[in-house]
Amino acid sequence: MNIAVLGATGSIGTQTLDVVRTCLPRARVKVLTGYRNIPLLDSLVKEFEPELVWVPDDGEDKLIACATHPDIDIVVNALVGKAGLRPTLAAIKAGKDVALANKESLVTAGELIMKLASEHGVRVVPIDSEHSAILQCLQGCNDGNDVEKIILTASGGPFRTWPKERIEKATAADALRHPNWSMGPKITIDSATLMNKGLELIEAKWLFDQPLSKIEILVHPQSIIHSMVQFVDGAVMAQLGMPDMRLPILYALAGSTRVANDFPRLDFLAAGDLTFEAPDTNRFPCLALAKHAAEVGGTLPAVMNAVNEWAVGQFLQDKIDFYGISALIAEAFGSYTVREVTGLADIREAEAWAEEFVQKQ
Ligand code: NDP
Ligand code: MG
Repeated sequence: MNIAVLGATGSIGTQTLDVVRTCLPRARVKVLTGYRNIPLLDSLVKEFEPELVWVPDDGEDKLIACATHPDIDIVVNALVGKAGLRPTLAAIKAGKDVALANKESLVTAGELIMKLASEHGVRVVPIDSEHSAILQCLQGCNDGNDVEKIILTASGGPFRTWPKERIEKATAADALRHPNWSMGPKITIDSATLMNKGLELIEAKWLFDQPLSKIEILVHPQSIIHSMVQFVDGAVMAQLGMPDMRLPILYALAGSTRVANDFPRLDFLAAGDLTFEAPDTNRFPCLALAKHAAEVGGTLPAVMNAVNEWAVGQFLQDKIDFYGISALIAEAFGSYTVREVTGLADIREAEAWAEEFVQKQ
């Protein structure tokens, strides 16, 4: 199996390469891309000796060449943000299976991606712990009508127990202290606002072809149950494990088969109580905004995603406060006229609108 790792220098990228090193001796990494972390990219190039490497100076077309390299069987898209969409679409059109960590691709263009994937006979497999869990729970389920609901679990993030007055004053440093997962900065902030769960709701809708009414969000602070599926006969299947992204990565790369590994195992006695709570959209308005965008559909999720990405960047630089992120998205929703998505151009246009909107701030 020949693999391209887009975003090789990031959190998912480096863990993907660790999975290749430790669990997939026959896999060859033939394409690598980085962005700012050139020293790390250099050392990965020395180790894996890929045929093609991309850095920003090479231009966007070469990034697309990386996603469509003729020798590649599977593209791991571990890019962050809206930069991930074009490579996802290009890889699918070139007939590559895509292991998709870049959830923003599905959020902005889920319908387009799933339609293209079916036309080109390729698999789009999630590298997201919740969606990997759902995929695992669905093993042996051949009829989507057997699914009564998908239960998407959420850790609740670092501010789960904080009152609103305290969250209001939260800094980027506070938000970057995630209780269970170590991830890149953008998704860590998205986890603190619960926007991440909103993005995952949209991701689940497209990946598993289920209506939003059948996807429920449940806060589970221990992050041991990675998500669940309830079937029409009342049975609930859950996937449990340590919070470790290497398993969803391995499961995606191994084509939904089981590969032995020495990752840490779940110790039930040490794990203690597993608890559950309803999400609170009053303290975490991003979740309600994302649900709204999911329901309205069209180009609204693309606008939300682009405004959120910019706002998260501002929050990381301490230029806006925590609730400034949701306030900006709400304001954008108020002044944007939603359109249908018929192709990439519609998404580009929505993103251009969002860019103009945020530049006015
Ligand atoms: P990181 O920020 O750690 O890594 C992002 C990668 O993309 C890096 O290789 C970075 O390069 C590169 N990159 C950044 N900006 C650009 C750009 N404009 N063009 C091209 N390359 C770029 O993010 P994560 O690994 O945390 O997340 C990646 C994706 O996976 C996100 O969509 C996230 O939501 C999703 N995800 C992540 C999880 C996690 O545990 N981390 C869990 C589930 C999903 P460099 O570092 O060299 O600057
Ligand atoms: Mg997730």
